[in-house]
Amino acid sequence: MNQQRTAVYPGTFDPITNGHLDILVRGCDLFDRIVICIAENPAKDEMFSLAERKAMIEEAISEHNLNSRVTVETFNGLIVDYAEKLGAIALIRGLRAVSDFEFEFQMALMNRHLNNRLHTVYLMPKDEYTYLSSSIIKNVANHGGDIHRFVPAGVKRRLVEKFLKTEGE
Ligand code: ADP
Repeated sequence: MNQQRTAVYPGTFDPITNGHLDILVRGCDLFDRIVICIAENPAKDEMFSLAERKAMIEEAISEHNLNSRVTVETFNGLIVDYAEKLGAIALIRGLRAVSDFEFEFQMALMNRHLNNRLHTVYLMPKDEYTYLSSSIIKNVANHGGDIHRFVPAGVKRRLVEKFLKTEGE
C-alpha cells in the first residue's frame, strides 16, 4: 500500500510560535502530510483574524521549506469530522508542562469516542519552548519585551504593529 499518511494539527495559533513550529517539524518526521487546522470558533477572544493567523503560519512554513508537506486550513465544528474528510489518520497535539495533561487527556479520549480510527499523537517540544504559549508572547510583546527567540520574525513584526496601533487609539 502506498498511501500518504496524513495528520491534522489543530489549534488556535493566535499567533503561531516557535513552540508550535517545533511540534510541526517533529510531526513531519512521522507523517507525509500535515494539515494545520485553525479553529474558527473557539471560545477565545483572538487578537489576530483568521486571515492574519493563516498568513503568519504560511510564512513560517515557507521559511522552514515545508510547503510541499504542510498546508493550512480553517475549520469549525468537530475536528474529528474534519480530519475524517481529509483522510487523516492522526491528530497532533503538543504537550508542554503537566498543566496541559488533564485537558488533553480528556480531549483525546472524547475524540477517540467520536472517531475510533483517528489516533491522537502527543509530541514534546524542545525544553526552551516548554513554557511558551501564544498568550505569554502577547503579554510580553504588549509590554515591549524581547520575543525574537520565541516567534518567527513576521509574527514579531505583526505583534509590534498591533500594539503600536492599540497605543495610538
Ligand atoms: P488550543 O487553543 O487548541 O490549545 P493553541 O494554538 O494554543 O490552540 O495550541 C495548539 C497546539 O499546539 C496544542 O496542542 C498546544 O499544546 C500546542 N502548543 C502550543 N504552544 C506550544 C509549545 N510552546 N510547545 C509545544 N506545543 C505547543
